[in-house]
Amino acid sequence: MDQTQYTELTRRKFVGVVGSALAVLGLTKTSIVRADKVRPAPRKQARRILRLAHMTDIHVQPERWADKGLTACLRHIQDLKDRPSLILTGGDTVMDSFGQDEQRTSTQWNLYRSILKSECSVPVRSCIGNHDVWGWNRKDSKTTGDEPLWGKKRAVHELNIPDRFYSFDQAGWHFIMLDATSSDGRDGYVARLDDEQFDWLSRDLARTPVSSPVLVVSHEPILSAAAFFDGDNEESGDWKVPAAWMCIDARRLKDLFKDHPNVKLCLSGHLHLVDRVDYCGVSYICDGAVCAGWWKGDYQECDEGYGLIDLYDDGSFAHQYVSFDWTPMPEPEKKT
Ligand SMILES: [Zn+2]
Repeated sequence: MDQTQYTELTRRKFVGVVGSALAVLGLTKTSIVRADKVRPAPRKQARRILRLAHMTDIHVQPERWADKGLTACLRHIQDLKDRPSLILTGGDTVMDSFGQDEQRTSTQWNLYRSILKSECSVPVRSCIGNHDVWGWNRKDSKTTGDEPLWGKKRAVHELNIPDRFYSFDQAGWHFIMLDATSSDGRDGYVARLDDEQFDWLSRDLARTPVSSPVLVVSHEPILSAAAFFDGDNEESGDWKVPAAWMCIDARRLKDLFKDHPNVKLCLSGHLHLVDRVDYCGVSYICDGAVCAGWWKGDYQECDEGYGLIDLYDDGSFAHQYVSFDWTPMPEPEKKT
């Protein structure tokens, strides 16, 4: 926007622009409504009906003591005095299978499943992240694409989920687990819902009663302010958010959610940063990373941690990012 455009703005438009900008920055929950549309104050006596933990970007691997880190996180969650009764995992469960061969991929998934089996007694529901997709980089993974569990089939199998995207109901809320990793037509990916999944999502929301608040989980954020802090804008002279970082089809998702005011909360990971954007009645939370900086310590302002979320019967929620106080440790000495 330049000076001429600025002076041509009416005050009304100006307020709208400032309001939108603040909403994107997550600084305000304010929206501009006509006087006759002002809603009554929310009920004061909302009842909490579910506490859940959201663990995203675990990136488990045999190195950097990631197995102990994951164990520490699961113990921290289950040792809380007010213990969650559901764990959602938000993708990038393994360090990487996108460009890894069969053996390396198996090692990582076996590690994850054995830790979960021995350390977790809370029900877990998972979504798929880009690093959980096996072999899309055929060259690096040495795959042909004809392997029975190639691509997302492997993650569906290892995570024991009904499909690459699905929904379920619990405690009066409706949960939608999305798969926002789409092929870029080469050996990479972009963040967006394929059309088949978008149509399913539209139908799933249409058949969900308005009385059921909706929580959406995707690995890549649908909308995020932190996405702006992962680039080199001052060097390039422009703000650019790559299509692999935040859903490139955020506009049509935002428009779909506007038709369904019971969509309250969208959780994501992927950026290893924590933020919250309130936009058009939906809260978008990017929920850090269990592994923070890939088990090497903090990543920017993000510690090793998980989201702790309380859901209420009136569709409201409370969120906090909880650090489990993990200290990164040096690699164990290799035996010669
Ligand atoms: Zn990711």
